[in-house]
Amino acid sequence: MRVREEQIRLDCDKSYPCPVCRRGNLNAITLTEAWGCNDCQEIFEQKTANTIKKLTAPYPHQASWQWTGKSWERQRPQMKPDRVRRAIGAIALITLIWLALTALELVNIPLKIGVAALILIVLTIMWIGLRR
Ligand SMILES: [Zn+2]
Repeated sequence: MRVREEQIRLDCDKSYPCPVCRRGNLNAITLTEAWGCNDCQEIFEQKTANTIKKLTAPYPHQASWQWTGKSWERQRPQMKPDRVRRAIGAIALITLIWLALTALELVNIPLKIGVAALILIVLTIMWIGLRR
């Protein structure tokens, strides 16, 4: 169960166990909204009242943790709606191609003509999709 943010807040005057190395302690870095580990030197950005995000990782899905009051809970990166839409589109396209190839086998259309028709269909779908 996710802990409600209003209940537990990170206190700048306290230190917390490091979620990465689990040996060191996180302390607030003065005049910033960041926390640093005194063991592994990892730096975390404070996202919300009780959530921190690893600052040094350059990838879009940076690791983040939520303080539950006793320990850190790893948070899963959330997929952007745009990526979900693209993933669904790719799956639909693969399914369509597979169904079309299966249909070609059933009606005995020569493979060259079938593949050419399929490429034409896919290009038409992509053209329609790009027009929006
Ligand atoms: Zn550490």
